Amino acid sequence: MYQYWNPEMETLPRRELEAWQLRQLKTMVSYALRTPFYQDRLPKAGIKSEADIKSLEDLKQIPFTTKQDLRVGFPYGFLSIPKDEVIRLHASSGTTGTPTTIYFNREDIRRWTGFVARCIYGTGCNATDVFQNMITYGLFTGGLGFHAGAEEVGMLVIPSGVGNTTRQFKLMQDFGTTVLHATPSFLLHVESKMREEGVSRESIKLKRAFAGAEPYSEDTRRRIEELLHIDVYNSYGLSEMNGPGVAFECQGKDGLHIWEDGYIAEIVNPDTLEPARDGEIGELVLTILCREATPILRYRTRDLSAFYTEPCSCGRTHRRIHRITGRTDDMLIINGVNLFPSQIEEVIMSIKEVGNNYLIVIEKDGMLDRLTVKTEVGPDIFMDDTRPLNALREKIRRTLQSSITINPRVELHESGSLPVSEGKAKRVQDNRPRNV
Ligand code: ADP
Ligand code: ZN
Repeated sequence: MYQYWNPEMETLPRRELEAWQLRQLKTMVSYALRTPFYQDRLPKAGIKSEADIKSLEDLKQIPFTTKQDLRVGFPYGFLSIPKDEVIRLHASSGTTGTPTTIYFNREDIRRWTGFVARCIYGTGCNATDVFQNMITYGLFTGGLGFHAGAEEVGMLVIPSGVGNTTRQFKLMQDFGTTVLHATPSFLLHVESKMREEGVSRESIKLKRAFAGAEPYSEDTRRRIEELLHIDVYNSYGLSEMNGPGVAFECQGKDGLHIWEDGYIAEIVNPDTLEPARDGEIGELVLTILCREATPILRYRTRDLSAFYTEPCSCGRTHRRIHRITGRTDDMLIINGVNLFPSQIEEVIMSIKEVGNNYLIVIEKDGMLDRLTVKTEVGPDIFMDDTRPLNALREKIRRTLQSSITINPRVELHESGSLPVSEGKAKRVQDNRPRNV
């Protein structure tokens, strides 16, 4: 039932997988010692050559690398090979500040493509599929990364990019698209637009979608699956670790397999930096094992996740992580209460009458913070009939309050009226003055 792209690596016994990791880690350390950043950093931690790494335990001697380090190292502080050997660069989206840059040689691109192909094929796709890549192309890794991986699998690739839903529908109908890649927020937008433009589900052949690049809840996944009648697979990656292809759901759709022949994953308590226990949520720390041109060791992703303790029924030996619930720096403090935007999403997306888009607004009201949750309403609710609207508003408010312990204001908006972003969704507007 399950299909593996690289059966040997995907089911490698853990001991062999760890031996592979140690070999690759040594290689990465030797490349790192050619970069200005690690030439300075590693010897101070007692690592002067790859011979100082004798077991995987020695990873712990390597200091963490942060996003700030990458910014300080811009543009070439993390480059380990002569520029002539570099064939491509990518950058992060800059969601939280100045983007960071990574470089690839030919072999790095080949290996990255292999990981993405592995993810895609593991969901049941094959060369008969038609793949529409509805994501930003360009410096963002999601476009070209998926494009190459899908070609490697042999699918017909439509590099449609993001936006212009009318044209996207036309492409789906003309070429019989079976697989989409998009952000979950754009998939929800596509579904609303389909209804608005009267595109019938029968006129398109969609079977599945890969959704990633931003956090989303299980309820959002279910909503997309039910509305579009497709299977949705969670795709996780970040430019510092190549981009897509770091962790992906298999057909079990329960946690994301992190490809441990390409990455060493740790989960640490973000405050103490001590390892989290299995199953405990913490910050994901990743070491790349498959990129010579820009080796990045023990990178603090700021993404929050947890390891699964049980092996997966699919037979892959690579550990699974929980879907990312948010970033450590996403956390909002509202009147002293800590809150992640994902907690709000989880609640509102589980309410069926709520539409496909929402926005969280925080303002100052005198000394206090005021939280407003704006949501669109579903297609069955009429905006001029106040009684059901009031009932829905009250239902959302009550459900939110009992879950997040903050009493929010709730505003209902017509379907399609809240802003849709082309890249990653911007769900939070924090209008509070800084330093108050
Ligand atoms: P930026 O950090 O500027 O957004 P990237 O474009 O490299 O840079 O995006 C990587 C980040 O996107 C990850 O660190 C994570 O926060 C988020 N992300 C990517 N995929 C997922 C996913 N499936 N679920 C949750 N968050 C994700
Ligand atoms: Zn699995």
